[in-house]
Amino acid sequence: MIPVPSQVRIWLAVGRTDMRSGMQGLALQVQETLGRDPHAGDLYVFRGRSGNLIKIIWHDGLVIEIEEGNQVRLKCDSGSTVTASNAVFATNSPINTWVKIHSKMAPYRTYAMAFDISKGTLPDALYWDMDDPYYYVRLNPGTGKTDRLIVGGRDHRSGEADDGEARFTALEAWIRALVPELSRERARWSGQVLETIDYCGFIVRSPGNGNVFVATGDSGQGMTHGALAGLLSMI
Ligand SMILES: Cc1cc2nc3c(=O)[nH]c(=O)nc-3n(C[C@H](O)[C@H](O)[C@H](O)COP(=O)(O)OP(=O)(O)OC[C@H]3O[C@@H](n4cnc5c(N)ncnc54)[C@H](O)[C@@H]3O)c2cc1C
Repeated sequence: MIPVPSQVRIWLAVGRTDMRSGMQGLALQVQETLGRDPHAGDLYVFRGRSGNLIKIIWHDGLVIEIEEGNQVRLKCDSGSTVTASNAVFATNSPINTWVKIHSKMAPYRTYAMAFDISKGTLPDALYWDMDDPYYYVRLNPGTGKTDRLIVGGRDHRSGEADDGEARFTALEAWIRALVPELSRERARWSGQVLETIDYCGFIVRSPGNGNVFVATGDSGQGMTHGALAGLLSMI
């Protein structure tokens, strides 16, 4: 049961929303279309093309306390409490246990950059090599005559290097040598992925807990593992 306090404002998104959008995609729409902060406590409702499905996003704070038992109680920093029969921790790095799962994964820092590229320059595919450290390339559709080429890789174990700028420079040199038609850089970013020993994600019941589940250990395959975890959680 998720109690919604009476002072929470509710926004209805008119028109159709692509129901494949996840929390992050819907939050981006709130930010970019409405110009509002999706973390500010208001509730946003979206409807799909057929009108028989809605998605709601509501951020009422971060979970700061977890009580497990016959039911799971999640206490948020906003003061509210959510009670449920089961809980899935899909926080990338699990927050419900600090040892049992973390000791079976290694955090790696990874890097990515986006460049403009004229549509049709490269066939639309996901490319990657088998080197260590590896590189990968994909296209993201843009508007007009331009797409975005995303290049990523040059990972290292977290804490074992502090040379991010050199890694971005290497990424750019690698892709410009392969694709000289590349235009200007649009963005660069970096973050952590959690590697398991066999690169297979942990989408499992949390050790020692009957009604708590985790989805983690994506090993840079979060898009695939995320969809898989969503499907498995419905079983
Ligand atoms: C630079 C970079 C490039 C990548 N490239 C790729 C790629 O090309 N292909 C690919 O498949 N994957 C890639 N990944 C990995 C992928 O992004 C992640 O594996 C994936 O986003 C994990 O999804 P998730 O939903 O489990 O976690 P996240 O997307 O991290 O979402 C977790 C959510 O939990 C919320 N949360 C955390 N703590 C709390 C709390 N206490 N209370 C409430 N909410 C909380 C966070 O706010 C967040 O919204 C890349 C990652 C990085 C950093």
